[in-house]
Order: sequence, then structure tokens, then C-alpha cells
Amino acid sequence: MKKGKMIILSGPSGSGKTTISHCLLSRFPELKFSVSCTTRSIRNNEKHGKDYYFLSMNSFISKIKTHQFAEWEEVYPKLFYGTLKNEISKILKSNRHVLFDIDVKGGLNLKKQYPNNSLSIFIMVNSIKILKERLFTRSYDEKNNKTNINIRLNKARKENSYAKLFDFVLFNFDLYQTKKKVIQIVSNFIL
Ligand code: 5GP
Repeated sequence: MKKGKMIILSGPSGSGKTTISHCLLSRFPELKFSVSCTTRSIRNNEKHGKDYYFLSMNSFISKIKTHQFAEWEEVYPKLFYGTLKNEISKILKSNRHVLFDIDVKGGLNLKKQYPNNSLSIFIMVNSIKILKERLFTRSYDEKNNKTNINIRLNKARKENSYAKLFDFVLFNFDLYQTKKKVIQIVSNFIL
């Protein structure tokens, strides 16, 4: 019984999509966050099973081999992220809608798999300079060094060019306004 709809929130790292997804989850109790798997290390404000399933590389590879992912990507060099098929079906079976916070390729991949019951939203970074500042001020306990930030910035430049393939594109100039718009779009889609 696949009643649930899917909301795919994509955009470069630092675009504000995680904050927006938290906002959607508190606004719409019928939405459930799809917890992804990742091989990156846990940040000090994160919880296993809530933000991600933090897996070893071996365990991630074994899930690839046993076809447990609906999609997976090497989002950054040697850092893997993926959505478990089981995570999606668990949420759909509970008659809720699924919310994904996922990179651009993964978002497009899911949209292709579920063209009829999914809504894809791209949160656009309006300025690489602002993005750079945001990434620098993020408090990670992982290696938040210049190299990592540059990798994320280069990826953001490429990702912005895929925006046109999404159902909606929102420029995140002002977080309050962006949240308002996303709530409106999601509300139209699920209600
Ligand atoms: P972060 O390390 O900042 O939590 O996430 C890095 C990027 O990976 C973000 O753009 C995030 O949306 C994306 N991401 C998170 N989960 C998944 C997933 O399951 N699949 C894919 N393809 N990307 C993901």
C-alpha cells in the first residue's frame, strides 16, 4: 500500500536544506525523514539512526552488493551516502510521506524512480561567497579543513547547473522567506 508521497530536497551542502527539512518535519507531522546511510564520521550534534546510519566502508559496500540501496553516491571522494530501499518502504507502509535530504544526483535518481508521486525541490545557493562563509562557520568535529570546504564549493558550482531539472527551484536569500515558500509548496503537494 504505497500511499505516501515523496518530497526530495536537494541542493549544495550549506544551502540550508537541512534546516529547511527540520522546519518541514516540525510543520507537517505526516512527513517522515528518510535516514540515509553514510560512511562519513559523525559530527558532535548528530545521532546514529536519527541523522544518519553511520556505517563502516565494509558495511556500506556489503549493502551495495546485496542491492539494499534505492540509490547511493560517492558524494565526496571516499565518502559514500545512500538511501536504503527498506527505509523508504518502512515509511510508506506507515502511511506517511517521505522527506529526503539528498545530493543533486541522488535527488534526480529518486525522481526518476518515482516520477508520479514525488516532488523535487532544489535549494539554490545564491552566492558561492556566502556559501563559503557558511561552510567555514559550521561547527563540525570532522576535518573541516580548507580542502574539504573547497571540495564542497566545487561540487556546489556543478550542482547549481542541475537546478533546472527540479520541479521547483528556490533561492535561499532569506531563510525565513525560503521556509515560508517551501511550506506552501509542500502543503499544496500533500494536502
Ligand atoms: P553532509 O555530509 O553535509 O551531511 O551531506 C553531504 C551531502 O550528502 C548533502 O548534500 C546531503 O544532502 C547528501 N546526502 C545525504 N544523504 C544522502 C543519500 O542518501 N544519498 C545521496 N545521494 N546524497 C545524500
